[in-house]
Amino acid sequence: MFELGPEYKEIVAEAKAVADRVAPLAVVADSSSELHPEILEALRESRLSEYVVPAEFGGRSHQVDPVAVCVIREQLMPASSAMDSLFALQGIGSYAITCGGSKEQRERWLPAVGRAEALAALALTEPGVGSDLRGMATTLTEEGESIRVRGAKSFISNAGIASFYTVLAKEGSAFSAVLVPADSGIQVSALPDLIAPHVIADVNFDVVLPSAARLGRPGEGMDLIQATLAVFRVSVAGAAVGLAQAALNEAVRHTRTREQFGKPLIRQGAVAQMMAESWAEIEMARLLTYRAAFQAREHGLEALHYSSMAKFAATEVASRVVDRAVQVMGRFGLVSGSPIERYYRQARPMRIYEGATEVLKASVARRLELIVP
Ligand SMILES: Cc1cc2nc3c(=O)[nH]c(=O)nc-3n(C[C@H](O)[C@H](O)[C@H](O)COP(=O)(O)OP(=O)(O)OC[C@H]3O[C@@H](n4cnc5c(N)ncnc54)[C@H](O)[C@@H]3O)c2cc1C
Repeated sequence: MFELGPEYKEIVAEAKAVADRVAPLAVVADSSSELHPEILEALRESRLSEYVVPAEFGGRSHQVDPVAVCVIREQLMPASSAMDSLFALQGIGSYAITCGGSKEQRERWLPAVGRAEALAALALTEPGVGSDLRGMATTLTEEGESIRVRGAKSFISNAGIASFYTVLAKEGSAFSAVLVPADSGIQVSALPDLIAPHVIADVNFDVVLPSAARLGRPGEGMDLIQATLAVFRVSVAGAAVGLAQAALNEAVRHTRTREQFGKPLIRQGAVAQMMAESWAEIEMARLLTYRAAFQAREHGLEALHYSSMAKFAATEVASRVVDRAVQVMGRFGLVSGSPIERYYRQARPMRIYEGATEVLKASVARRLELIVP
């Protein structure tokens, strides 16, 4: 319960080696909204994307294992958020194919996703719709043997570099999912730069596709998105724990060597308190994250409240830890281009995407209401 088993320790070591390889690229790759070619090459060579597809299609385990994805992201995120995001999106964008795709769709896309030759994206958010997806305006309509997908999706990670988009659209009063290949006539438009740059853009769809482009049955779209979250939401917590640990390590390295008032900063009352508090919070977040990942592996959607809990807890911890690290590093924590500055910017969006903290807390509280006798 309190230690990862040997099979996961091997995965951690594998991911750590990849993280060490890409870390020198991070200053450039993590400050750009364009794909860094060496990051993609490193992902391909690492074969880490094999962890996000089932063994039948070239994956490493029978089913995609949330624990493996989580511990990989814990290693990748502090090394390079560009690498972390590229890895994670391979799973987030393709899991609806794993769960709801036809034999042809799975055979066509999943092995290529596992080799990182096809890049994946998931398109849910719209200009007017974020947390409350039920208000979405993108539509899917049947036109004879074809289907037509019309609408605008916004803030879509990997937009412009993805080979395909898993799109959620309204079909009558229900929601359906569809696989839209990048070469089907979509329009990608750039976004303003984010505080933590990222390959991300808006996408407009008005495309006619064969009915076989559907993912799952009509009306099954929300279920496929839920299935995706059941596996991948907890992995954001894994990334947050990795980021928080790296920030604490930076702060320790600085404060144990810098002296003020005749002794190292780390031995000054308030600084020591902050460091100890950060360490304890990281340990708590890591334990909850691993527990939630194991719950996700064993119980899937039934355990989504654990993933939600871990996601908001770990991302909030990451923000607090990074903020304290900047504080104890004084002016040296404010240097642009330094690792701590990168962590400071990168921690922030994690509390908003894949479920904002407040939205997740509301869903966890609803669950609590149900389970307490
Ligand atoms: C870096 C990044 C990458 C992204 N990648 C993708 C992607 O690949 N695909 C995709 O589809 N989307 C993506 N998004 C969009 C992301 O999913 C949305 O930003 C998120 O769902 C929140 O929606 P919103 O930003 O519209 O905030 P809103 O829904 O407008 O909410 C704003 C704030 O209001 C509060 N709030 C909202 N609802 C409630 C509530 N019920 N109770 C209490 N408080 C509430 C929260 O504090 C929330 O942060 C990405 C976003 C970012 C920043």
